[in-house]
Parts: sequence; C-alpha cells; structure tokens
Amino acid sequence: MIKSVAFAAETPGPKLLVLGAVHGNEPCGAVAIPHVIAELMTGKRNLVRGRVTFVPVCNPRAYAAGERYIDRNLNRYLVPQAHPDCYEARLGNILCGLLADCDALLDLHSTPRGNEPHVYVEPSNPAEYAYAAHLGLRTLITGWEDVYAATDRKAVEQIHPDEGIGTEQAVRRRGGLAALVECGQDGDPQAVEVAYRAIHNALKHFGMVEEKALASGATRLVRMTKVYYRDDNGAFTRPWRDFDPVEAGEPMAIRANGTRLCAPANGLVVMPQPDCALGQEWFYFGVEETRD
Ligand SMILES: [Zn+2]
Repeated sequence: MIKSVAFAAETPGPKLLVLGAVHGNEPCGAVAIPHVIAELMTGKRNLVRGRVTFVPVCNPRAYAAGERYIDRNLNRYLVPQAHPDCYEARLGNILCGLLADCDALLDLHSTPRGNEPHVYVEPSNPAEYAYAAHLGLRTLITGWEDVYAATDRKAVEQIHPDEGIGTEQAVRRRGGLAALVECGQDGDPQAVEVAYRAIHNALKHFGMVEEKALASGATRLVRMTKVYYRDDNGAFTRPWRDFDPVEAGEPMAIRANGTRLCAPANGLVVMPQPDCALGQEWFYFGVEETRD
C-alpha cells in the first residue's frame, strides 16, 4: 500500500508530484513532507493554484526496515508492468499512475556520505533548468548520462531498455519537468531542512503558494565530464571533499602502478569516494558552466 495526500486549489494550474523515500534508507522526504501536509491541512499554508500530490513514503516496507529496497531498486523500470514479479514492481505500477498524472516532479533523496546537496537537471530544457534553479540549492549537476556514454561501462548494467526509467525519466519522456534532489546525508536533520525548502520553493516557483521563496540564492551548474573508477588500490592525492576545485594538470589520484590521474581542465572533484569497492565509481571530474 502506498499512501498519497493531494490538495487542489479552486484555480486550475500545474500538477506537482512530491515523492519521499523512493529509497527506504533516505528519510528526508518522508520527514519533511508531513510538515507541509500539516501546514496545508491546518490552513497555515494555502494552495492558490493547481494541485499538489504528496507521497511521503514510496517504499513503505523498505522504509520500515531502513533498507534501500526489498527486492530491487524502486527507481528503475517505471513503466507499467503487466506481470509485476516482485514487491518493487508492484509499487512501481502504483507510482506509474501518479507519475503519468503530473506536470512536474520533485523527488527527494539523500546519500550515505552526505555530499553537498544538489539537484540533477537537464539544462537543455530551459523550463526544467529554471525550476531546478529555484529550489534553493546552490549546485545543479548535469552530464550524468554523457559521462557514462563516454566510457565502456554503464552506471547501471542494463539488462532491459526499461531498466533506466526512473522517476525523472518517466516524467520527462511525457514532456513534464523533473527535479531529483539529493538533500544531504541519510538521517541528517539538515537534509530534512533542504527537502522542506525544496518543496516550498517548488510550490512557489509554479505559483501555487503566495509566500516568499526560501533561501534561493545564486546557483552554479556543474557539468560532469569524466568518471574515474577505482580499479586498484590507488589513492587520492588529497582528502578531497565534494566540489573541491582543481587546476588543469593537477594530480587528483595516483593508481597503484603510479599512473597519475590529472585534472583535464580547471574544474571540480565531484562525489569523491576514497574507499569505494574496487570497480566502482571512485570520483568524477566536472566543470562549472556559467549560465545567463
Ligand atoms: Zn536515493
């Protein structure tokens, strides 16, 4: 069973879908969303336009267990399945109905390592870029798919073309706007704040509430251009933190055989994971893009 709560204004407008705990071990959305529901229920907040649908917990059994998922990643294969073969496939069919009936998606996630909060965006769609840029996060990231296309490996070893259809892809392929926000570290109260702010700012961006936007300062767009895998027991040259700047030619890591991995341009180290398993994504390199 998935519980959803919807509010509709008398004045028609955009249909926004807000999701929490698509991954059961990422509680920020599941904690932040009920605050906004309570504000709308009690009249502390008023919806002036459109319709907003909240799903605080998309994967209830995984959330109760504190696990990412029960049988498989829920954020895959989000096309209706005629013969759902596992728990997440059955949940996915419910989510597909909600995803098919929205104009914009806000999907709230967190990460185990507490990377700087950021939102994934497809900047070639100006409407989606504007939406993502107003969520109150400093950093927008793009280039995810291009980075993997440039390697002979994939982010997800796909066994079926529908495997790569997550919440964002399900909405974008119908022409909707999607924002997946990584709000910070799993279980950190700060991540709940980021999630709450993103919900508020999404409602504000679409003209659905009349309050002021919260903390919507300058944003930067980081285009990831390269992924480095941890193929041996090499080491970072520094204890990199997320989005640390690097200069062109500066060594970022050294392979076990002594090969230096140098920055291909002036840019940033993104999502460094010094101790990830061998064969996994070790870190990314990205460049900051200026936008009007
Ligand atoms: Zn997640």
